[in-house]
Amino acid sequence: MDDPGFFDEGALVAVLTAQPLDRLLDYKAPEGGCFRGAFVEVPLGPRKVLGVVWGPGRGDYDRSKIRSVIRVLDVAPMRAEMQGFLTRAADYTLTPMSAMLRLATRAPGLGDPPSMRKIYRLGDKTPDRMTEARTRVLEVLRDYGGLAFTLKELAEMAGVTSSVVKGLAKLGAVREEDSPRDLPFPHLDPDLPGKSLTEDQQAGADALRAAIRSERYGTTLLKGVTGSGKTEVYLEAVAETLRMGRQALVLLPEIALTAEFLTRVEARFGARPAEWHSGATMTERRRIWRMVGQGDAQLVVGARSTLFLPFQNLGLIIVDEEHDTSYKQEDGVLYNARDMAVLRAAICGARVVLASATPSLESWANAEAGKYDRLELTARFGAAVLPEMRAIDMRAEQMPAASWISPSLRRAVTDRLEKGEQSLLFINRRGYAPVTLCRACGQQIGCDHCDARMVEHRFLKRLMCHQCGETKPIPETCPSCGAEGRLAPVGPGIERLAEEAEAAFPEAKIAVLSSDMFGSARALKAKIEEIAEGDADIVIGTQLVAKGHNFPNLTLVGVIDADLGLQGSDLRAAERTFQLMRQVAGRAGRAERPGTALLQSFQPEHPVIRAILSGDEAGFWKAEAAERQAAGVPPFGRMAGIILSGSDAGQVFDTGNILARNDMVLRQIGAQVFGPAPAPIARIRGRHRVRLLVKAPKGAALQEAISRWIAPLRLKGDLRLSVDIDPQSFY
Ligand code: ADP
Ligand code: ZN
Repeated sequence: MDDPGFFDEGALVAVLTAQPLDRLLDYKAPEGGCFRGAFVEVPLGPRKVLGVVWGPGRGDYDRSKIRSVIRVLDVAPMRAEMQGFLTRAADYTLTPMSAMLRLATRAPGLGDPPSMRKIYRLGDKTPDRMTEARTRVLEVLRDYGGLAFTLKELAEMAGVTSSVVKGLAKLGAVREEDSPRDLPFPHLDPDLPGKSLTEDQQAGADALRAAIRSERYGTTLLKGVTGSGKTEVYLEAVAETLRMGRQALVLLPEIALTAEFLTRVEARFGARPAEWHSGATMTERRRIWRMVGQGDAQLVVGARSTLFLPFQNLGLIIVDEEHDTSYKQEDGVLYNARDMAVLRAAICGARVVLASATPSLESWANAEAGKYDRLELTARFGAAVLPEMRAIDMRAEQMPAASWISPSLRRAVTDRLEKGEQSLLFINRRGYAPVTLCRACGQQIGCDHCDARMVEHRFLKRLMCHQCGETKPIPETCPSCGAEGRLAPVGPGIERLAEEAEAAFPEAKIAVLSSDMFGSARALKAKIEEIAEGDADIVIGTQLVAKGHNFPNLTLVGVIDADLGLQGSDLRAAERTFQLMRQVAGRAGRAERPGTALLQSFQPEHPVIRAILSGDEAGFWKAEAAERQAAGVPPFGRMAGIILSGSDAGQVFDTGNILARNDMVLRQIGAQVFGPAPAPIARIRGRHRVRLLVKAPKGAALQEAISRWIAPLRLKGDLRLSVDIDPQSFY
């Protein structure tokens, strides 16, 4: 019998394409035949599209009408385990296979031969004369924010001739650059001497090395306070993986983190790894994609979508800061990279390491239940000790109007300034003020397209909607009542806090770190490095600074509003606040000098604030777990969110009601439906939004029931439905 993985010329093959068709298409294998998994170009109507030979054809279509595969692309075929991974990930997240294939092929020109070529990205000049074609080119470049394309890619995507692009390049509206070739990545040497590890670290590294040598699937929760050397330990796991000739993947939550990490990798292995992120050019992406597929990239570092690269022999996946919410993709395919990492590893016999100082309750519960191995690093490396944490009771502080830095916090900062040490003031709100209020009529300025308030950004000199990104100039007169000069900012954002700090500490050098204040990730990285080298007395930051940066001279963290996260009705509000506060506090005292964290709070007796201060982590997790268990919510029960949206509010609600009434299939598995209810943000970009929530017992076949439940639904007009399995946010 023929190798079932190979199809002779003319044999029927089923091809998966990235087109939204929801089924495989039959084609005839091309001249020379093809392997299962081959990446191919196939005709579809008048077009040629990319596809993957998924298996034997079904043959239920008129054979005389079946066309042939045009060509087999010169890249490594998709491995059976990748096919399996995509299929299971699609089933889990209820995503069409075509969308999964798009995730797995996010690099253009996969089949092109390698060559030196010119690439094009957005320039800084605006042409005097705009044509429709020119506008389309610039729109494509803006839509892909920062990415670069080859001439052919760009012209095709914009639907223009290449002379339009070249014309724009001459005018400086598009920049022409030379791109790197498709070279293999430099060799990483696992046998260079690493740092000598502490006893704790050594034990952790040994356990991971043994696990990796077994070449069997398993997940390890590597818990350790910030600065305990988790990174050092898992780099040893990477080394062992490379020695075994397998590939390793390190997922990081935030692109700004990678600069420091890449330097550490280079120090440990003598070369830099492949780096997959949204700022990479299309050409870099193509290079990484191909090299990963042929085994010429040993280690890849990147954000969540790195998980869908075509690894040939993946032996290790590290998910650093595994509790981070950015691992959940919140639009398009709704998946959680942490969970998908476990799935992928289980399929290909790899080890997963989930690293965090403050694990998610999900991972904590899996470790408690014995599903995950557990490794713990309890001490900070070297002389560094954990910061002392205290609350500032805001009810007892004398606060002048429109100020947020309490006298106690002010004294602490002054003390650090005198000693030449750094302080961090943390506030989790971008912009100048969250609310702009008219003092004449009491109206707050809202977004025209969303049920959200516009946030003033003085730095950008505009009001911005944090939901849809819409901006408008700050008006002189109230849009509701027309009163002039009566608009006033209410509440603090990071820019307003910076203003207060500048007035309070006029001699200090102040650095403001907020993601929207930097034109590019590169500029942000540069700023972070400057700060780490001591080039700021006071750092004012949002969530961004909570994530793993090392600021050795920082000894004080002041949290402006520790109560902020506790107000939401979100199921994870307590967990998130606990994690965030402990992460932020962990920024202090990373080197020899001890640190202090001060939390401004109006409710210092709140159980979550008390747990944060006392550092009784086990106590906090146990209490939180017990509460969730009693409520039957994750991780002790299952949930799925259904979001219906459309421009006609009545239609959206009616459809929600139809779903809620026909819940038979859900009741059969013991699940319950809640809603429909207007989503907390009931309108985004002019679309009305309604949510339903499905709760099911832990072992229930939730996905299967949901797909049967929604299958009969016919979505009229611009109505859209999306299913969010294991929702993380409920907006
Ligand atoms: P974590 O990932 O747990 O936050 P890191 O691995 O970043 O901790 O370690 C914190 C700091 O201590 C880093 O600068 C790291 O290089 C240093 N460090 C940790 N362990 C060692 C060691 N065994 N030898 C030398 N330096 C170490
Ligand atoms: Zn908006």
